[in-house]
Amino acid sequence: MKALVVNENETLEYKEVDRPVIGKKDVLIKVLGCGICGTDMHVYKGMENNWPLPGIRGHEFAGIIEECGDEVSRFTIGDHVVVQPMLYCGHCEDCRSGKTNLCKNTKLVGGELNGGFSEYAKMPEHYVFHVPSNLDTAYYSLVEPVATSIHGLKGRIPTYTKSMVIFGAGAQGLILVQLAKHLGVQTIIAVDVVNSRLEKAKECGATYTVNGMEANAMDQVREFLDGDLAECVVDAAGISITRQQALEVLKQNGVAIFLALGAKETSIDFMSLVTKEFKLYGTQCYTDEDIQKAIEFISTGVIDAEKIITKVPLADGSNAFEQLATNLEYGIKVVLVP
Ligand SMILES: [Zn+2]
Ligand SMILES: [Zn+2]
Repeated sequence: MKALVVNENETLEYKEVDRPVIGKKDVLIKVLGCGICGTDMHVYKGMENNWPLPGIRGHEFAGIIEECGDEVSRFTIGDHVVVQPMLYCGHCEDCRSGKTNLCKNTKLVGGELNGGFSEYAKMPEHYVFHVPSNLDTAYYSLVEPVATSIHGLKGRIPTYTKSMVIFGAGAQGLILVQLAKHLGVQTIIAVDVVNSRLEKAKECGATYTVNGMEANAMDQVREFLDGDLAECVVDAAGISITRQQALEVLKQNGVAIFLALGAKETSIDFMSLVTKEFKLYGTQCYTDEDIQKAIEFISTGVIDAEKIITKVPLADGSNAFEQLATNLEYGIKVVLVP
């Protein structure tokens, strides 16, 4: 089969490799689309990791069941599926209490294990989910980032939140805009530095947009909210300035959610944090329940995957990575299609 392989010297090469051999509890998936994630880009740009070389990355993939191991019971050949790529152990304290997203023994398919930037990928049955066939199956490659956003907001934003500012209008930001709209947030403000992304944010339901390079975010938020500040802010950019601005535009008793990786350290204004009683949340990945919800939201159009995804042939994968690293206008969520 063909795959996009990261070589020993960290270069990407589209080449012929052996097809994965499945175990009794595994399925072999014919990949129909695999998204390039922010994490893939961080690693591509040199973020420290312990992923093996050579290796096949790609953890956001959907496809069709091609083969089933002897003990597989929930799938048959031809089923359309998506994967939950963060394999948790199932027996640690966090897993047993349902917080599988916090398992310390995780292995990422497309990280520690070979992933979906290839024609075929193997997965343990337990981490595979059926998807409806009403949409192009490749759109369900967006399930993982949608689940991340669902998990980020779940139980953290108050009901009847009237105003939300979202920093970063990449794939995660655009998903958040659509989720906020679904949750009935009245005023959704998207902040980014790329105008084409801000236009997309408008298409996805943002009430207002701010180009952080051209205007002061706090002034703009005050103007849009009639002098008020935001009840909720979400950082989907992960750079220090957006984290700091997120707290600047937050009103007293407001909720700030940080879901982007990125800068390891950021200094923040603790005086405001204390005196304004901000509630700050970090959020990590998703649970199986979030994955199920993400499938539902994509299939019912709550999340319009078509607005976010750009398909690129897997054979051009190396170029896609290079473009994403250097050209902010290239594509918001590039999905590699074998
Ligand atoms: Zn991802
Ligand atoms: Zn565990």
